[in-house]
Amino acid sequence: MAERADNVPLRTDFALLIDGELRSAKAKLDVINPATGAVFAACPKASIADLDAAVAAGRRAFKSWKKTTYSERASYVKKLAAALREHQDELATLLTQEQGKPIGQSIAEIDRGAAQSEGMVGIEIPIETLIEDDQRKIELFYRPLGVVGIITPWNAPVNLALGPLVSALYTGNTVVLKPSPYTPLTTLKLGELLKDIFPAGVVNVLAGGDELGQAMTEHVDIDKISFTGSVATGKNVLASAAGTLKRVTLELGGNDPAIILEDADPKAIAKKLFFASFVNSGQVCMAIKRIYAHEKIYDALCTALTAEAKQAKVGNGLDPETEFGPLQNKMQYDKVVDIIEDTKRSGARILCGGEIPNTPGYFIPPTLVTDVDETSRIVTEEQFGPIVPILKYSDLDDAIERANNTRFGLSGSVWTSDPTRGREIAAQLEVGTAWVNQHRATSAFVPFGGAKESGYGRQYSVLGLKGYMEPEVISVAK
Ligand code: NAD
Repeated sequence: MAERADNVPLRTDFALLIDGELRSAKAKLDVINPATGAVFAACPKASIADLDAAVAAGRRAFKSWKKTTYSERASYVKKLAAALREHQDELATLLTQEQGKPIGQSIAEIDRGAAQSEGMVGIEIPIETLIEDDQRKIELFYRPLGVVGIITPWNAPVNLALGPLVSALYTGNTVVLKPSPYTPLTTLKLGELLKDIFPAGVVNVLAGGDELGQAMTEHVDIDKISFTGSVATGKNVLASAAGTLKRVTLELGGNDPAIILEDADPKAIAKKLFFASFVNSGQVCMAIKRIYAHEKIYDALCTALTAEAKQAKVGNGLDPETEFGPLQNKMQYDKVVDIIEDTKRSGARILCGGEIPNTPGYFIPPTLVTDVDETSRIVTEEQFGPIVPILKYSDLDDAIERANNTRFGLSGSVWTSDPTRGREIAAQLEVGTAWVNQHRATSAFVPFGGAKESGYGRQYSVLGLKGYMEPEVISVAK
């Protein structure tokens, strides 16, 4: 059980948002600062009765919200983006305190959330004319589904809430949003801002545990679940949503490969490759999780990446010098420590890192490993932490096969001085997004989601927005 920080008053200025009102609750959730390992805040924990009230409010509000136009809803979302920017500093500080990431990255998360939100509401969803002749006109249009339940994880709580939130609202749905019990605070503060922007009941925000998420997936009056989290929970969500045949979008985990060709320049790409692997201390769904390097550049790449790791500044995210914060919670920290131990036992060579500091907080330094047994956990599982294997190959087809030899399929990248060849190889990766000479670049206008067990459906772009709508055919006889 985590200790409370001595002499520091617990922050308790948080509330649920239900039907346009800020509400407290009998039960509380303690929130730990992962940089100290101590409880620093407590927030209300919603009950099933709160969920029922939020869903009922969402259903009432839907009656008029669905009749608003796209441009009216776009103007609400623009106010949301402006409020995010106005409150950026206080939201970012809170995000770093509850999540651990460096303050600059918290600011970037909020800024990016605002920009992506504005981007999404610029997308048109046209009515499509399928057939028009002397006898009839047949059109395909899209209407909102109703109440959307959004369930988010702890690694990027603001960004991962805003994508589905804005998609659902802009397409005419109302929302019940539940963040992870590890990082509920910034989302609750977002709820306070939304209270003054949207009509009552259009957005409801509830903090709660896994059981609240489960109740959302079973709720008869929720029409769709947009879930971001682990593959294992995603499978539970899908099974549970089947009871009411809810629409479901799943954004799940990844074990993303990067393939480095023999013509790549290790020194030139090391910084980008390192950051794409270790950003947010590896706790990013689409972070690089396995590096396959051609034997000709293998040693040079190991040297260049190790140099990056040795310079990396690990610490409390509130320190502006910090580049890499702690793991977000004790469970994830223990899992990554276990993987490091397992990797050492399997005979792998630790190039750098691998030692766990005996200090408060959930810190693990960036760790690179080579000579790895490809059946060991560090290769087969999503580590979601700051340890990455560098694996050698001599034959490109073999590297592609090894990169694809997983049930995950979120994203991947190819690194080469020949982008045309890179594109050909990218097309052979069994993933939702394949990048060439970059990794982790996303946009409101580009669909994002996982192949295989990394997901179900897409977020962003017109494709993602249509996932929040029911296609309906209207056939009019002339
Ligand atoms: P998690 O699956 O443990 O929890 C995610 C959310 O689901 C939390 O809000 C949790 O309370 C809720 N939940 C737990 N059990 C539930 C149930 N039975 N029914 C409904 N909801 C339930 O995931 P996590 O550990 O918080 O997040 C890390 C995972 O998220 C990683 O696997 C990561 O790759 C993935 N992720 C994916 C994306 C993406 O876009 N593909 C983005 C970020 C994170």
